[in-house]
Amino acid sequence: MQAIILLGPPGAGKGTVAEALEKTSGYIHVSTGDMLREAVKEGLPVGLEARSYMEKGELVPDDVIIGIVKERLARGPDDARYMFDGFPRTINQARLLDEVLESGGGRVSHVFLLEVPREVLVDRLSGRRICRNCGAVYHIRNIPPKVPGKCDICGGELYQRPDDRPETVLNRLEVFEKETASLVDYYDRKGLVRRIDAAHDREGTVAEITKYLMAGGSE
Ligand code: AMP
Repeated sequence: MQAIILLGPPGAGKGTVAEALEKTSGYIHVSTGDMLREAVKEGLPVGLEARSYMEKGELVPDDVIIGIVKERLARGPDDARYMFDGFPRTINQARLLDEVLESGGGRVSHVFLLEVPREVLVDRLSGRRICRNCGAVYHIRNIPPKVPGKCDICGGELYQRPDDRPETVLNRLEVFEKETASLVDYYDRKGLVRRIDAAHDREGTVAEITKYLMAGGSE
């Protein structure tokens, strides 16, 4: 089992970059945020536990996250290559990931830190809209749907994630600075961090990450 990690504040574009990379790189995209939103939608016990934290923009406790990630990895083949988005978010989670990978002879091969100025993050998050039906992502100004409020792909209704409302966005950015940014040191000490300018178009970000993956192999 091998892994790469997309690290960066909310709104850095981890999800959309991961979707594009999944198609070309062979890495399996694992987003703990998506898994939790799915669990909330389905009314699963994990979802009920996570929901109040998510709505406030706080981190869901490590034991919940570690449980869902372990379960997800156990379902994949032993030689799978994963691309994590939104995980790990604490040093505890990072250590657990290292243990799981090492127990199978694997490791984290790259950590891509997506860097975006704060004002761009706030604009991206508060303007983001998502299709309730197919999950396609829009932005009210940067990527507007053809018909306001409707998905171009499936006609589904567009909605705003509760945690993308302005009051929660600022808290999520603070939580990132306080709790998740220390992960950069953790991986920097291992020499794994590649800093990527992710303030512009998705294609440029994807191309730069792909360049590193090709150069460094995926062993
Ligand atoms: P995301 O879609 O990655 O922005 O995650 C949305 C929300 O889910 C976060 O604000 C947290 O409340 C929760 N969450 C997702 N992944 C994690 C994680 N690895 N650790 C703790 N909380 C998480």
